[in-house]
Amino acid sequence: MTHPTHPAKLIVVHGSMFAGKTEYLIARLRQAAVEGRHVKAFKHAIDNRYDPTHLVTHTQDRFDAVPVSGAAALLEQAVGADVVAIDEGQFFRHELIPVVQTLLNRGVEVIVAGISNDAWGRPFEPLPQLIEMADEVVTKQSPCRVCGAPSPYTQRLSPVDTLHMVGGLDDYEPRCAAHFTPLPGPPERR
Ligand SMILES: [Zn+2]
Repeated sequence: MTHPTHPAKLIVVHGSMFAGKTEYLIARLRQAAVEGRHVKAFKHAIDNRYDPTHLVTHTQDRFDAVPVSGAAALLEQAVGADVVAIDEGQFFRHELIPVVQTLLNRGVEVIVAGISNDAWGRPFEPLPQLIEMADEVVTKQSPCRVCGAPSPYTQRLSPVDTLHMVGGLDDYEPRCAAHFTPLPGPPERR
């Protein structure tokens, strides 16, 4: 399954919400498809904000994606792909790390997009671990909604009781460090 001209590698694209991570993912997938490589995109089944079977950008661009219940299901469904893309990698939590390693060992190119920092301002795992493993890291930061500076943080504007950060788009804004206010009292990791 190893593509002779494309050695296995891991690309991580991370940043705040609204920063163009999914746009970037789709562009890479389209380029790989043009090169004749077999691409497969995945999203977590809990991420159904726009469309359960497509990656969808904030500008409504779309790319076919397979919804999966978790990292193990992703690995099963990835058989035969030369390039595997995973949107919103934080939804897969730590189980994503060994699955990405297994795909790399199979010779697959893996592209993971995800949010850098959670609503409490902490690194959003497993993105930090994946960034350490990555051959290529792309940072996407949208302008702070208050001052326009590049924003590594995603401000939650309404109360939240889970770590998933799934919510309406109106619940979030990109914010720079100066204008980011972490949510009080992180919930226990579940
Ligand atoms: Zn700011």
